[in-house]
Amino acid sequence: MAIQRTFSIIKPDATKRNLTGKIIAKFEEAGLRVVASKRIHMTREQAEGFYAVHKERPFFGELVDFMISEPVVVQVLEGEDAIAKNREVMGATNPAEAAPGTIRKEFALSIGENSVHGSDAAETAAEEIKFFFKDEEIVG
Ligand code: GDP
Ligand code: MG
Repeated sequence: MAIQRTFSIIKPDATKRNLTGKIIAKFEEAGLRVVASKRIHMTREQAEGFYAVHKERPFFGELVDFMISEPVVVQVLEGEDAIAKNREVMGATNPAEAAPGTIRKEFALSIGENSVHGSDAAETAAEEIKFFFKDEEIVG
């Protein structure tokens, strides 16, 4: 597997509880390197655009309200097989189903307030990185 980049968000439930460092430590322990990072308060337009793929889902409104409720930390993570590795360290969407030691098992509050976002494929990773970062903001 080649070196990849993936996109991550530390979500409002986690920034609010001051868990940013603990979550970044999980990425680093898994061999992922933070090559871009910024703390932002997403606008409603950004959240709706970012999650447009889910706009027909029943939880869309709740998801957008949640994502703009507090600041988030958007990041680019780099490493061997980074997309799958990040999904592995995140754990299942529903923390009740997440494996021991994963971020969502240890920190998530519910299926909605689940502490982290991570890209699910190479194409979405590239799109999501571009949604929040300029090329020159990423320093590998
Ligand atoms: P992910 O790729 O593991 O983040 O999961 P999805 O792409 O399926 O969903 C995107 C995000 O929508 C999840 O991370 C949750 O924050 C939220 N979400 C997913 N399913 C539900 C649900 O059933 N209820 C609520 N309230 N939020 C959900
Ligand atoms: Mg997803």
